[in-house]
Amino acid sequence: MNEAEDGALAATFRRLIANTGPISVMHYMGEANARYYASRDPLGAAGDFVTAPEISQMFGELVGLWLADMWIRAGSPEPVHYVELGPGRGTLARDALRAAKRFGLEPRVHFVESSTVLRDLQLAAVPGAFWHYDLSSVPRDGPLLLAANEFLDALPVRQMVKGADGWRERMVGLDGDRFVPIAGTRPMDAAVPEDRRAAAEGTIIETCPGAAAVVFEAAGRLAEQGGAALFIDYGYGEVRDGSTLQAVRAHRKVDPFAAPGEADLTALVDFATLAQVALSRGARWLGTAGQGHWLRALGIDARTESLCRASPEHAAAIRSARDRLVEDGQMGALFKVMGLAAPHWPDGAGFS
Ligand code: SAH
Repeated sequence: MNEAEDGALAATFRRLIANTGPISVMHYMGEANARYYASRDPLGAAGDFVTAPEISQMFGELVGLWLADMWIRAGSPEPVHYVELGPGRGTLARDALRAAKRFGLEPRVHFVESSTVLRDLQLAAVPGAFWHYDLSSVPRDGPLLLAANEFLDALPVRQMVKGADGWRERMVGLDGDRFVPIAGTRPMDAAVPEDRRAAAEGTIIETCPGAAAVVFEAAGRLAEQGGAALFIDYGYGEVRDGSTLQAVRAHRKVDPFAAPGEADLTALVDFATLAQVALSRGARWLGTAGQGHWLRALGIDARTESLCRASPEHAAAIRSARDRLVEDGQMGALFKVMGLAAPHWPDGAGFS
């Protein structure tokens, strides 16, 4: 392959690996996604994948409704900050803020976004927002209402693989010109939790230090300054083994090792571990619900019917968007909604 086929980052990785040896899967995924998101708008029919806020305005509206409900039952504190991690095109924020405004909630808006291409789109969708590279610069003078949809899955995972001589980090090496996953040479047993070390040869354990760090920081902020958060993503609620690394390009699954920086690399989110991280910081874990269950509890069916009445010519499309978000065979079960809140904040709708 040459640069035109699999991208400039592939050439850089080949040189790096040839000169200094295999790189970790975490390094590979982190660099690949940094390149990927910095260089394009990946969302929508013409891009690589479609997310829930891009499927229907109802998704963002119900997120906004949930946040407004929390805020009102917490006593409508001011000032209050809406914070979104990885806002994509700004669609979720625009829909959520429009819904929240009907309930008197008009927060200051903060976007944590690394991609300059997407920042421009976000500015058009939500004029007046403030941008940040991470949570550290987000104000501390009032509660945070935080949302993150399909953000954590883009953060790089670290993988350990059990070999005949113990645990090794999973690396990316070269077979000719092709990138291939291989076991590293350095013993890594100490990096694997004690209760998971005795696994069968070939077992892979995946962790996401970046996701843990984000939830650690967000939960600490909730405990310190009040507020509530929704982390929405595809993932699992019980600890499991195996690699969940995957790549999507032009709406199709592709080999994650084929063209680094040219496809969206993601991994399933380990919600069980993230709930523990949040609790360890003194935040409340309100629950982790299937997206379908959560959206139904928030009233997506009533909202579907009212939108259909308002534009009967679009009824079929509105109902099919609802099904895509809610039904088990589509996004309803694989996608999860994790709710967090400050210690003195109320329970959240949709988690019982
Ligand atoms: N939430 C949006 C977009 C999801 S795509 C939606 O649901 O449509 C992932 C988003 O996270 C993009 O906006 C991407 O630029 C951003 N992102 C990915 N890695 C990031 C990082 N390390 N820091 C900040 N933003 C990041």
